[in-house]
Amino acid sequence: MTRDILCKHCSQPILSRQALAVVGRTLQPLHVRCYAAYAARQPWHQKPGWPINRWRSLLAFNALLLAGVILLHLLVSPLSVSEWLGLRPLLLAINGWLLVARLVSYWSLERHLPQQEPTPRGT
Ligand SMILES: [Zn+2]
Repeated sequence: MTRDILCKHCSQPILSRQALAVVGRTLQPLHVRCYAAYAARQPWHQKPGWPINRWRSLLAFNALLLAGVILLHLLVSPLSVSEWLGLRPLLLAINGWLLVARLVSYWSLERHLPQQEPTPRGT
């Protein structure tokens, strides 16, 4: 079962998961190639952030967050052990939210698309 998923930027159908980028709090479907143009058009408070249908985004996000905490620890004020442990619920909450978003994105968009773009026939 497939249904057309249209790009929010150019209104063309998105043909494969490879070409799909799901962005923003409202999980907008976009072409990967339209993502930069779409992001540039949004006002700063609606910047879409990383596409959430990539596990790489999750890793990059955690790496940045940890780097930020470590910088704070080294440059501003050293965190005590209990403060480090206090960060765990925060990390879990943020990652949980990202995982839920990812699941919603998969359920509503990605599962309707083939992994690869169908090869054009007759060429
Ligand atoms: Zn597009």
